[in-house]
Amino acid sequence: MSSTPVIGVLALQGDVREHLIALAAADAVARPVRRPEELAEVDGLVIPGGESTTISKLAVLFGLMEPLRARVADGMPVYGTCAGLIMLADKILDPRSGQETIGGIDMIVRRNAFGRQNESFEATVEVTGVGPVEGVFIRAPWVESVGAQTEVLAEHGGHIVAVRQGNALATSFHPELTGDHRMHALFVEMVRDAR
Ligand code: GLN
Repeated sequence: MSSTPVIGVLALQGDVREHLIALAAADAVARPVRRPEELAEVDGLVIPGGESTTISKLAVLFGLMEPLRARVADGMPVYGTCAGLIMLADKILDPRSGQETIGGIDMIVRRNAFGRQNESFEATVEVTGVGPVEGVFIRAPWVESVGAQTEVLAEHGGHIVAVRQGNALATSFHPELTGDHRMHALFVEMVRDAR
């Protein structure tokens, strides 16, 4: 087996291309994942930003929701940004009708939480183990509360915006849009450790 981890990006909707570029820059082999057979071949998976209701519906339609839940439950490393964070939440506070999540992180999220005041903004966020990161927030969710097993990695304005539980990592913001690949490097490291 090669030492370079193969990391998929869930390519149903959202900013897939930016994640593929960031993962390649962080020394992973990156590929889009649209089918269960493609999911079976990756060592880890990024769930991009976009629209969580759309990603949720397409995941069901493409027959990916159950395989995704199975692999996450089995410990496959996952990293969700923004809509991807919502997809990894065990519970959404304000789901749209029919909106399902993959789950994996014991947390309750509030969709569009920052969006009510600001559609979009940037702020420096101090991420545990990484340092200051330029956070791009686009109609971003925040984490309302976390369970005992969930580690809070960053807060902004008193709200949780980055978490980790075991092999699952999630941020409210979009590191794939900044050209700073440290969050992706952290995830690639998690995938290496898990293999
Ligand atoms: N507000 C979007 C949602 O609920 C997330 C926005 C984003 O990913 N930039 O899915």
